Amino acid sequence: MSTFLLEVVTPERKVYAQDVNMIVVKGVAGELGILPNHIPLVTPLKIAPVTIKKGNATEYIAVNGGFMEVRKDKVVILAESAEFPGDIDVERARAAKERAEKRLSAKRDEVDFRRAELALQRAMNRIETASKK
Ligand code: ATP
Repeated sequence: MSTFLLEVVTPERKVYAQDVNMIVVKGVAGELGILPNHIPLVTPLKIAPVTIKKGNATEYIAVNGGFMEVRKDKVVILAESAEFPGDIDVERARAAKERAEKRLSAKRDEVDFRRAELALQRAMNRIETASKK
């Protein structure tokens, strides 16, 4: 089976760099499956798990926003944060989810609301990805 190099990079570190068979990401326009030799493209990503197929294995990474760049020779995901299921602290994510929900119900100004919405999405993404262990 043919492969391509997938790199997942955050401002802190390179989280992932391996040859993979396929990935599925959530772009702003919907789910996108990327196979080797995909045409080059750049798309913003939603806060969602990325699915990675590698041989018989399926891996997941909780990707927080950012972009995906499909190049001729590799695919690069640049995200604000990215965690493997095993590295996710579910209690912390649950606490973040509760905080965000409280802020959303408090109906403060719009900036606070948007910030809380994003925090809620990050927390839910982490909880979902951790459950895929
Ligand atoms: P919190 O309110 O719990 O800090 P957050 O969504 O504001 O959550 P981020 O700003 O997205 O956190 O991330 C800051 C750093 O902490 C990143 O390195 C991220 O990978 C890590 N991180 C955040 N939440 C978790 C978690 N539940 N488990 C493991 N690492 C986490």
